[in-house]
Amino acid sequence: MRRNIVAGNWKMNNDLSQTEALITELKKQNQTSNCEIMIAPTHTNLWHAFEALRLSDIEVIAQNMHYEDNGAFTGEISAPMLNSVGVTTVILGHSERRAYFKETDAVLAKKVDAALRHNMRVIFCFGEELDDRKAGRQESVVKDQISNGLFHLTEQAWNNIVLAYEPVWAIGTGETASPEQAQEMHQFIRQVLTEQYGNRVGDATSILYGGSVKPSNAAELFAKNDVDGGLIGGASLKAEDFFAIVNAF
Ligand code: PEP
Repeated sequence: MRRNIVAGNWKMNNDLSQTEALITELKKQNQTSNCEIMIAPTHTNLWHAFEALRLSDIEVIAQNMHYEDNGAFTGEISAPMLNSVGVTTVILGHSERRAYFKETDAVLAKKVDAALRHNMRVIFCFGEELDDRKAGRQESVVKDQISNGLFHLTEQAWNNIVLAYEPVWAIGTGETASPEQAQEMHQFIRQVLTEQYGNRVGDATSILYGGSVKPSNAAELFAKNDVDGGLIGGASLKAEDFFAIVNAF
């Protein structure tokens, strides 16, 4: 059974005191919900967040990691380091990592392998740019990103993979894919997975939508058959908005 997930990607926002304040608010708003809830603070605040949320059902996850376990990689952080502060889920392949830090499909495949080797769960992001959509090649772009990053995995490995379709033109722009556009792409992605790995993986893999999800549009996006939740940027920085999205399930 695939799971519904709402994950907040805080990006490079919130210092320690802001993190403490937002977590206090999140704890106040948190009630029984119909989905898994995750937040991804910046690396320096992971330990604090993990400790502060230890007894809650909000999981603390990481925004990125390196594929090596340790070594001369200045400024990087590894899977064992994340594990050591209680983090067992990582976002990989976010479009900002792909665009600004030149992360290629090949590098991402290595990161996925490293995360799985350390028993972590991966939220693997991908999505087309505006030019791709205008040219009608969004499906081939998405298929390439998924197959280059993930199709070397065994069927078993997919138990720990969550997909996040994030059209680049919708991230942080206020422009959201319509529920129909999201459903069309998610259905396509599920079909691609089923063709490659069979029905079990196709049916069981959660596919999140990301790109300007907010309280006003979450319910209609999540109502679509193949949309299993959201990766939320801007709206995850306000506890009230984030929980309005969580409660859309
Ligand atoms: C994101 O960065 O993953 C994202 C979806 O951002 P936003 O919700 O702000 O568009």
